[in-house]
Amino acid sequence: MKQTTIYPSATVANMVCGFDVLGFALEEPCDKMTVRLLNEKTVRVVHHDSYGLPTQPEKNVAGVALQAVLNQVKENIGFEVEITKVIKPGSGIGSSAASAAGAVYGANILLGNIFSKTDLVRLAMFGEEVASGAQHADNIAPCIFGGVTLVRSLHPLDVVEVDFPELQVTVIHPQLEIKTSEARKLLKPEVPLGNAVKQWANVGALVAGLMKHDYELITRSLHDYVAEPVRSALIPRFDELKKHSLEAGALGGGISGSGPSVFMLSKNANTAHRVADAMRKVYNETGVDFHVHVTTINRKGVKEK
Ligand code: ADP
Repeated sequence: MKQTTIYPSATVANMVCGFDVLGFALEEPCDKMTVRLLNEKTVRVVHHDSYGLPTQPEKNVAGVALQAVLNQVKENIGFEVEITKVIKPGSGIGSSAASAAGAVYGANILLGNIFSKTDLVRLAMFGEEVASGAQHADNIAPCIFGGVTLVRSLHPLDVVEVDFPELQVTVIHPQLEIKTSEARKLLKPEVPLGNAVKQWANVGALVAGLMKHDYELITRSLHDYVAEPVRSALIPRFDELKKHSLEAGALGGGISGSGPSVFMLSKNANTAHRVADAMRKVYNETGVDFHVHVTTINRKGVKEK
């Protein structure tokens, strides 16, 4: 039976000022997925983890994404996907996006790579819609392309790959669940013009800072006037987490996706580990369980080994 095993990684969406448009892929953690070709037009989802995710294909993001692939092919074929989820659902580091992106990436290998990376993002977006109630690509695009991406437009889909210097990432994951759909409801539909101007100045400068490998400019640009002021209230001790991380030498950071994970970027591994210690110190006093990861940006996208 034709099958492939792939490892889609966690991703950080929003990247502070780039709400809904910027995102980057993490080296770790990754899910494990085996996609198999079937000789009947059907989709099957099997989970080997204890997160209790739905296995009905129409309720699972991987199932919906695979159905979107099937809708594009004429042959009488189908897919079965076995998922071992490592990226906890609702953690804010793109758990659902990893399933959607991994599913279409694996299916494409089995079909002889007939789809481009942009096609794969478009197909995986059908899956993401099940998780968050809206089509978005800020986690899927970096998961498939790797590195840092900017989604300039969804319809038509326009993904821009952004070069970046060496960056280490510290992520704290408080063991609370924040649903993307709930966090979205907190956002006001309108942004005052003054804040909008500051926000797009920062997005432009952050992209320039990343591409010029200018760490000072990256630091100056990592400010959010849109989502963080309302969403940070969902994350215990967010302000202290940020303050102590910056004091430990982080370049900057903020809420990962819609939270509860919080990420910080650093120039090198030593600083990233100091930031991890600072985060642990703040969280040890909260009584909330948490995990801290130190990792880097994954330049490759979905891994095949
Ligand atoms: P995250 O940022 O971690 O992806 P979301 O809230 O966007 O968090 O998505 C998680 C939601 O998606 C959960 O409600 C979960 O039940 C649903 N879901 C459906 N299928 C999957 C899947 N294969 N992997 C992860 N989440 C899934």
